[in-house]
Formats: sequence, C-alpha cells, structure tokens
Amino acid sequence: MNGVDGCMTTCIRCLTTAAPEPLGLCPACAVRTRLELASGLRRLTDYLAAWAAFDEWCRARRDGTAFA
Ligand SMILES: [Zn+2]
Repeated sequence: MNGVDGCMTTCIRCLTTAAPEPLGLCPACAVRTRLELASGLRRLTDYLAAWAAFDEWCRARRDGTAFA
C-alpha cells in the first residue's frame, strides 16, 4: 500500500514490477514513458511545422492551401 491512492498494481509496461495507481507504471517505466512522450511531441511539432510551411508555400503561390 504505497501508491497515490494507497493501491498497488503490476506495471502495465514491464509487467514485472509493482507500480502505484493511478499511473500504473513502475518508476523505471515512468521515466522511459516520459522520454518517449517528449520525443513524440518533438516529432509531432516538427511534422506540424512542415505542414504549416507547406501551407504557407501553397498560399504564396496562390495555389490554394495545403488542406484544399
Ligand atoms: Zn515497469
């Protein structure tokens, strides 16, 4: 009984270590998951920036938008 709400479960990622509710991740997996999330958000930001640049290019050519 150590979790935020007093409940423990098995880590949903490694399936071997006890993990506190409500996150359900052991400390090691919580760190890995946070790093993957940060990396994913960086990649999503780059992707959306590329779409915005493409949209700007389309508009500059008066060729509609990237979404048309
Ligand atoms: Zn784990």
